[in-house]
Amino acid sequence: MRESPYPLVSVDDAQATVLRWACPLPVQEVPLRSAQGLVLARDVVAPLSLPPFPAAAMDGFALLAADGHAPRRLIGEQMAGRVAGLTVTPGAAVRITTGAPVPPGADAVVKVEAADEVDGTVVVHPDHPVRPGLNVRPVGSDVAQGQPVLAAGQVLGPAELGVLASLGLSTVPVHRQPVVGIFSTGDELAEPGQPLGPGQIYDSNRTTLVAAVAQAGGQPLDLGIIRDDPAELERRLAAGLVEADLLVTSGGVSMGELDLLKPLLERWGTVHFGRVLMKPGKPMTFATLRARRPDGQPASEGPWRLFFALPGNPVSALVTFQLFVRPAIRRMMGHRAVGLPQIVATLGHPFRLDPERPEFHRVTLHREGSRCVAVSTGSQASSRLLSAAGANGLLVLEKGRGELPAGVERPVLLLDDTWLSAAA
Ligand code: AMP
Ligand code: MG
Repeated sequence: MRESPYPLVSVDDAQATVLRWACPLPVQEVPLRSAQGLVLARDVVAPLSLPPFPAAAMDGFALLAADGHAPRRLIGEQMAGRVAGLTVTPGAAVRITTGAPVPPGADAVVKVEAADEVDGTVVVHPDHPVRPGLNVRPVGSDVAQGQPVLAAGQVLGPAELGVLASLGLSTVPVHRQPVVGIFSTGDELAEPGQPLGPGQIYDSNRTTLVAAVAQAGGQPLDLGIIRDDPAELERRLAAGLVEADLLVTSGGVSMGELDLLKPLLERWGTVHFGRVLMKPGKPMTFATLRARRPDGQPASEGPWRLFFALPGNPVSALVTFQLFVRPAIRRMMGHRAVGLPQIVATLGHPFRLDPERPEFHRVTLHREGSRCVAVSTGSQASSRLLSAAGANGLLVLEKGRGELPAGVERPVLLLDDTWLSAAA
């Protein structure tokens, strides 16, 4: 029997190794409209105050509180976005709309429902108190100029992007998203949509991985299928190393004669690990190498590329992606939290343990009272991608003998983080 020369490393050690090599990518300014989900690279300090002028919080009348309930003369209108040039003096009032600048002299806005205006005279209802500052939003009451508003590391979502826009900013400094090149390898692979030849199967890994890269926040670059031919492999990978920050291949790393990838990675760079103690995904391989020159020769300088050679079996490829590639992508984007979120769930039925390897068992989670209950998606064969379809968690089972009974608690890595709030 052939033996792999690579030591089996633990999942934790393998993840730590990956994160030692994954660094946040350089900072670039991007338009706000393209920044959704990206990570702010620098602290942002408010360049101006909001509101920038004392603003009416209601539609009504701007006036002087000191006039009490005495009738006032209506001297004009101040609409939002206009400059009316009015000054409110004792005994006067100005009709005003929400968000309009409160005219100089006025110190309160009485809402329209609390006053009557007849023939140019404004009378505030006797039971309605008028005090200075009523319905006036002072300058800087939402945001003061110079105030820190967003900190580096913040993930930009709708509210954060809106805050930047409200301060007049049109671009934002973020870490560049990694371009993630995705190859499938294998003579047996056919493109979906094409007829299936004898002995062929459809390539599902590229479709899965393109989607998983996008979900993780990277920019997927579909680089196609590489046949099991050493010369083609070298040529295509050399080209991929130029285009992508990070390369993901699937297949070609088990112990077959045509598993050409590891020897090539050894020649071109450093293989940090070539086997991981996990089920599924044992042949998972991680290497770092430099981009190639156009003639295929190694470049002596330039950035390192991260290279993930995932196992070919579709479930193994997806699980190892989630455990190793996703954290690398997220770290390169500048995320602080890079791993899958973890909760504790109760086993909904007995689970058999693997005597040799910890297992990442695909489960669906549901709620029973205050508990999260995990139920297997059925046969966990690493070729059966259906075991991952519909799964929202990876139940982490230790290696061991026999089975765990229903009712015990174990960690679950969430594949769908909408569960975080549901599980809290
Ligand atoms: P390998 O490590 O290349 O021997 O692949 C292991 C298993 O995964 C084989 O049964 C392959 O046919 C299968 N496989 C490899 N790549 C893909 C792919 N892109 N899509 C679906 N199955 C694949
Ligand atoms: Mg293969």
